[in-house]
Amino acid sequence: LFRSEQEIQNINPWYFEVMRFRTALLFSSKKFKDKISELNLHVNTDPLTGLHNRRGMQLFLEELQNTGTEFAILLIDIDFFKAVNDNFGHDQGDHMLKVLAEQMKKNFRENDICCRMGGEEFAVLMAATDKAVVFKAAERLRKNIEEITAAMPTPITISIGISYWPHDSNDIKEAFKQADNRLYQAKNEGRNRVC
Ligand code: GH3
Ligand code: MG
Ligand code: MG
Repeated sequence: LFRSEQEIQNINPWYFEVMRFRTALLFSSKKFKDKISELNLHVNTDPLTGLHNRRGMQLFLEELQNTGTEFAILLIDIDFFKAVNDNFGHDQGDHMLKVLAEQMKKNFRENDICCRMGGEEFAVLMAATDKAVVFKAAERLRKNIEEITAAMPTPITISIGISYWPHDSNDIKEAFKQADNRLYQAKNEGRNRVC
């Protein structure tokens, strides 16, 4: 038994097969595994907010689908965000994205999956199907953002569209489209609301 990576390193690769064996051992060692999971974590995480990116979200969607776990999709979009960038600069825009991400982390439970889809669009997958519970969580975030940013140089509001898998569609893509339709509805009805 090899007790450490050093011992593996110390094997004299006196011929090709041994060298391959040594390499295989090194790759199966904990340090390499840790490095690989760290790299995986990076490719699945949005660097600005620390939330799961689209790719990270995909892994959770596969897991939820494979285990047949019902969930709600919350699509979140900042209202008139272009104006924040145009009037106060991209840095302030980025700052507000971080503020929203922080509030999302605080607002939702550990089991809920908070993601940045790209730009100023976010998503939460909630392993909860009670519509009242989901709506309450969305409404709480909407209100928090309105209140917390009111005192900031660039107050923002958010609109949220909710759908349910598999209730709205058995096809996850379709269920996302449904949430997106409801987000557009929220925008059309005057923004700063949950549909
Ligand atoms: P609406 O209420 O309809 O959502 O209006 P909006 O201005 O938020 O929507 P629109 O899609 O027209 O603009 C989104 C803007 O988001 C465009 C761009 O200026 C900004 N944006 C996208 N990604 C980033 C980012 O990573 N950082 C910053 N600072 N701004 C971004
Ligand atoms: Mg948008
Ligand atoms: Mg927007």
